[in-house]
Amino acid sequence: MKVIGLTGGIGSGKTTVASFFKDFNIPVYIADEAGKNLMNTSSEIRQKIIDLFGEQSYNKDLPNRKLIASKVFNDKDLLSKLNQIIHPAVEKDFKEWLYKQSSEYVIYEAAILFETGGYKKCDYNILVTAPEELRIQRLQKRDDSSVSEIKQRMNNQWDDEKKSQMADFIIYNRELKQTKLQVEHIHDKILKAGKNC
Ligand code: ATP
Repeated sequence: MKVIGLTGGIGSGKTTVASFFKDFNIPVYIADEAGKNLMNTSSEIRQKIIDLFGEQSYNKDLPNRKLIASKVFNDKDLLSKLNQIIHPAVEKDFKEWLYKQSSEYVIYEAAILFETGGYKKCDYNILVTAPEELRIQRLQKRDDSSVSEIKQRMNNQWDDEKKSQMADFIIYNRELKQTKLQVEHIHDKILKAGKNC
């Protein structure tokens, strides 16, 4: 079964695009959600995070996400250490999930895929892009975040130009109707493809 990576900068529209694949009955694994769930449920992850951030990083069994986010906010090294705890656990969880699927292909959605090297494990990779101004507007509307917060998070991701060169498909997410057509086109190509898309 093919695994198709789906990535894009924050607010580019990954989850929106993923929902269009779901409309074609394609199963979607959302790595960031899985990571969050594993932080809530895995005692192994809990212990590793406490070792890295201290006792206050968990309130009983639940992570203190605000504290963890504030610690990694301006510290790329600490962010990378956190990712090194979460990513292998997500990879294992994904493999278990994949084993249960029976479609032609699945979508693996992750905010950082090229940055982590995770893209190498996918058969093809899709990048979702949208102009930065539009992404900021969408995120302000969705999350009520400040522009500086959004830009800080953007700084932890590679820019679209670098990622575009590594992607097999690029979806330009401006008008939803056009985005849906692009998804349809890619879906058809993947279904028809042998090894070359
Ligand atoms: P994040 O990186 O935060 O996970 P994302 O890349 O998954 O975000 P979405 O959540 O899909 O992005 O989209 C961000 C917001 O923009 C959502 O509120 C979504 O409904 C809206 N949105 C996405 N695409 C469009 C579009 N083409 N037109 C209008 N609104 C859009």
